[in-house]
Parts: sequence; structure tokens; C-alpha cells
Amino acid sequence: MRALRVKKGVEAAIKRHAAGWQGCVAGVTAKIETNPRGTAELGDSRHLGAICDSDKGRFDQLTIVRLRNNEEVTIVAQLNIFIDGSWLFKACAPERALAGQTEWSDKAFQLDFARLDENLLSHAHAAAPSCDRLGSRYLSTSIFSLPDNFDDWPNEYDGVTADDIARTRQGVLARERFVDSAVSVGYSDRAVYRPRMKGWILEKLRSKRYQEKQVDATVVALLVRSAITGPDDVHVVITGDADVLPAIKVAYPEYSKNVFIATTHPDELLAERRQTAFSLSQFDFAIAPYYLQDHTAKILRGEHVYTCAHCHKVFARPKPIPAKARPCCFTCNAKRT
Ligand SMILES: [Zn+2]
Repeated sequence: MRALRVKKGVEAAIKRHAAGWQGCVAGVTAKIETNPRGTAELGDSRHLGAICDSDKGRFDQLTIVRLRNNEEVTIVAQLNIFIDGSWLFKACAPERALAGQTEWSDKAFQLDFARLDENLLSHAHAAAPSCDRLGSRYLSTSIFSLPDNFDDWPNEYDGVTADDIARTRQGVLARERFVDSAVSVGYSDRAVYRPRMKGWILEKLRSKRYQEKQVDATVVALLVRSAITGPDDVHVVITGDADVLPAIKVAYPEYSKNVFIATTHPDELLAERRQTAFSLSQFDFAIAPYYLQDHTAKILRGEHVYTCAHCHKVFARPKPIPAKARPCCFTCNAKRT
């Protein structure tokens, strides 16, 4: 860490600003250069918030500090996104958290990844003003690669039915589409695994005892690598798996400064995973968690997205609803006519 050398009065000014910017996130490095006289001058004071620590506002929390002569300070930070795709895919499934907020809870939630990115970025930006662009984005999940003779399995294996085959194909297709829509807006698919379908896997899938193994560990590894190599950036992990948090904490103890979590509501998680004591309050995040349910209208795919004026469910329409009419979902509309 490089010491900041400034004139006395300027130092005082920084301290004052630092104290006044307690809501800002830390871990963001300012790139400021010293002028030839070895003293320093302030850039735009708006940027000071981004270079002081979130809760302490102390002078020694400033990281690399070099002031450029009379020039505005430029601070560049990006938001890197790491998605536990297996969890998010399930969170978007019919009757789950997100679908439940839409007009048709029995249909999968149509997530718009570009809108999700945009929304996460504004969440990060509000806490860390210097974070104003998207960085690397990964979605990790696994999609079974099916053998060529998969359709013959009911003849070859005892207990395998044509229904198993159809259901498995459907599931693979749905995941492919999910991954494709993320990749089409810039996500890397390098962390998408393609294990070969085996007889014993099909059996476990049928009895709902199949457990994916690699995805959560991959998400943690990618996030931690990103956080270590980009300490000035902001990093978000999208997951409902409580177990990743202690792992992140161990591998990257500075997580609280510039890592945040996007998930469903904690109470929802408890209902889904009672064996895990998911408590976000045990973790000291400077950037508040992003709860997907609070943003369904902003992240739903569709030409024109509305929130029903009566039941508050969200829905999309191919054509805009006239400005004077109150948005009304299918169910409420049916009740009223
Ligand atoms: Zn309604």
C-alpha cells in the first residue's frame, strides 16, 4: 500500500469526506498520481467515497493513492458475475420462488440475463460508485450428454421407461436453452460440465437422489480467483447454496468488502433447505444481498413487462398496454369481466 502525500489542508478535506461517505464500499482502489512537486491535489471529491472504507471512513483505509495534477480522478471497477446455474435454473422452475410472482406460476420464469446483469450492476454501483461496467461472467452447471442409442435404453435396461427417456431429453433441452440465453449475452460457458448419462444416474434422477457435485465448488473457485486478481472490482455470486459462503470466507477473508450475494429470500431458502442453517446475518457483507424476488419485473424476459395493478403479479405482453389503462394480469382480467 502506498502512502498518500498531500498538503495539510487537503488531507483534512479527505478525512472529512471519508467520514461523510460511510455508505460507500471499500476495496476499490483509486488510481491517482502524484504531481511533480510530490504533493498531491484532489480530483473530484465525488470520487472520494469510492476510495474510503465503508464503515470506518478512516484515512489509512485508502489504498493506492496517487494524485494526478488537477485532473479528475478516474476510478475503474467492474462487476464480475458468478452464477450457480443449477440453482438458478431450479429457482426459475414452475411453482418456485420466481415463477410464483408471475401471472403463470405453473410455467418456468423466463429470466432475461441481460436485464439481470443490468440490475445487478446498478445494485453494485449504488454501493460502489466506481463500479460502472460488467466484467467477466460465468455460469456453471452440468448438462448430461446423452448417448446416441439413448432412445433404445428402455429395451436395454430393466426398469427404464420411454417416459424416463422423454423426461430426461426435455430436461437436457431446457438446461441447454437456459445456458444458451446466458451465453448469448456474454456469459462464459467454460464452467458448464457435460457428464455422460449412465444407467445408475438415470435411476438416481428418477428417485430424485442425484446430486450434482462440481458446480458449487466451481463457482467458489471462480469467484475467489476473480476476487484475488481483481481486488478493486465487485464480485457477485448468484446462489441459493448456503455452503458456498463459509468456503468463500475461508478462501477470501476480505469478501465482506467487495463480494455480495444474489439469492432468493432467506426465509424461502429455509423452507427449501431445512438441513442448512442459512443465515446471511452471519456474514458481514458491505454490499447488501440482492434478492431476486424483489426485482422480478426488472428481470423478466419480454417486450413489455408489467406488474398487475390488482394482484401485483408480473407479466409480459408482446404489445404495450395503453398508457391510460391499468396493467391487469390474465387472472384478474378474467375475474373482472
Ligand atoms: Zn392480477
